[in-house]
Amino acid sequence: MLWLAIGPFHAMENQVLVIRIKIPNSGAVDWTVHSGPQLLFRDVLDVIGQVLPEATTTAFEYEDEDGDRITVRSDEEMKAMLSYYYSTVMEQQVNGQLIEPLQIFPRACKPPGERNIHGLKVNTRAGPSQHSSPAVSDSLSSSSLKKSSAELKKILANGQMNEQDIRYRDTLGHGNGGTVYKAYHVPSGKILAVKVILLDITLELQKQIMSELEILYKCDSSYIIGFYGAFFVENRISICTEFMDGGSLDVYRKIPEHVLGRIAVAVVKGLTYLWSLKILHRDVKPSNMLVNTRGQVKLCDFGVSTQLVNSIAKTYVGTNAYMAPERISGEQYGIHSDVWSLGISFMEDSPVLPVGEFSEPFVHFITQCMRKQPKERPAPEELMGHPFIMQFNDGNAAVVSMWVCRALEERRSQKGPP
Ligand code: ATP
Ligand code: MG
Repeated sequence: MLWLAIGPFHAMENQVLVIRIKIPNSGAVDWTVHSGPQLLFRDVLDVIGQVLPEATTTAFEYEDEDGDRITVRSDEEMKAMLSYYYSTVMEQQVNGQLIEPLQIFPRACKPPGERNIHGLKVNTRAGPSQHSSPAVSDSLSSSSLKKSSAELKKILANGQMNEQDIRYRDTLGHGNGGTVYKAYHVPSGKILAVKVILLDITLELQKQIMSELEILYKCDSSYIIGFYGAFFVENRISICTEFMDGGSLDVYRKIPEHVLGRIAVAVVKGLTYLWSLKILHRDVKPSNMLVNTRGQVKLCDFGVSTQLVNSIAKTYVGTNAYMAPERISGEQYGIHSDVWSLGISFMEDSPVLPVGEFSEPFVHFITQCMRKQPKERPAPEELMGHPFIMQFNDGNAAVVSMWVCRALEERRSQKGPP
C-alpha cells in the first residue's frame, strides 16, 4: 500500500501509486509502486534502467499543468514531483475523474535500445499515451503545494528534530569524529544526512554546543549545506543536514579542470559567505565538499561550535594534511589558514587532480593560496577576482551535474546489478 507522509497528503494513504514510464517512440510501461515513502530517486532510475537497459538514464521529467517539462535529478526534486502529483490526484478525486498514473519521461544519455521488461515487476499496459494534461487551473493544487513546503520548512527549521522521527538507513561514511548516515525523516518525507558523534560530556557542555549550533539555522547560502537541527540522546549528538546524493569530493577520481573550476567557484563563494558571518571553516578539505546530481556544491563540517570542536578534538588522533603551516606550529588561525586548505584541497595528488594538463591560471591560483606567509595569500575579494575563478564563474551547474551523474553511473555499473 502506498502512503506518503508528506503533510497534507495523508488522504492519499490508501492509493497505489502507478508510475507510467514513457518509452521514446514505443509506448509506456506502468510500474506499480508499493514501497511508498521509501521510494527514492535512485529507485526510479533503477527501474528505468531495467526498462531501458541500453540507455544511461541520469534523470527523468514530468509535466506540470501547463505541459511544461520539469526535470527530476534528486530525492528532493522527486518529493516535489510527488507532492505535485498528489495534488492533481486530489483534484481528480474531488471531480470524480479517473486517476491518471504519474507519467515520467526518462532522459537518456545514449539512445535507448530494445525495450526489455523481462524480470521487471511491473504491470505492463504498454500502449499509446492515455494522458491528457490534468486540468488543474484553480488554486487548489498550488495552495496545497505552498502549504506543504511551508509546513516542511517549519518542521525542518525550528529544531523539532528528534530521534523517534528518524529512520536510519545506509552508512555514508566514518570520519574521525563520528559516523554519517543516510536517514529518512518520517514527518517531512525528507531524506537527510545525520552525523552521529559520541561525546562523553556534561549536560552543561551539551547545552553550550546546542546554543552554538543555533547560528546554523541562520546560514542561508546555496553553497553551504542545509541544517535541519541537532539533538542529544544519551552520550551522542545527532546533527541533521541536507543529504547530497553525489557525496563528497574525496571519492571522485579525476576531476577535469572545467568541472574543478566550477566546484572551486562554489567553494570560494561558500567560504566567502562563512567569513562574512565571521565563521572560519577550520576544516576545508575534499571530504567536506559535497556535490549532488543537480550540480550543486556545498560546504559542510565547519567549526561553528568551539565546544563541539574541542570535545571532538579530545578523541582526535592523527594529523590533518590540509592544515596550514601556521596552524600546525600552533600560531594564530585566521581566514588565511582556510585559504591554504582551499589551495591544497584543489591541488591534492591523484585523488583529485588529473595528472598533466593544468592551465596557467589554475596553477597560479593554487600557488597563491599556498604561500607560506599567511598574509601573502589572497584575501576573500582577491579569490573571487582571480582569473581562474572568474573564468568559471558562469553559473553553469549542468557541467557539474553531468559529471556527477556520469561518475555515479560508472560506480553503479562497476558494482553490477543489486
Ligand atoms: P573528518 O572526520 O576528518 O572530517 P570526513 O569528513 O571524511 O573526515 P565525516 O564528516 O564523518 O568524515 O563524513 C563521512 C563521510 O560521509 C564523508 O566523507 C561523506 O562522503 C559523507 N557525508 C557527510 N555528509 C554528507 C551529506 N550531507 N550528504 C552525503 N554524504 C555525506
Ligand atoms: Mg566531514
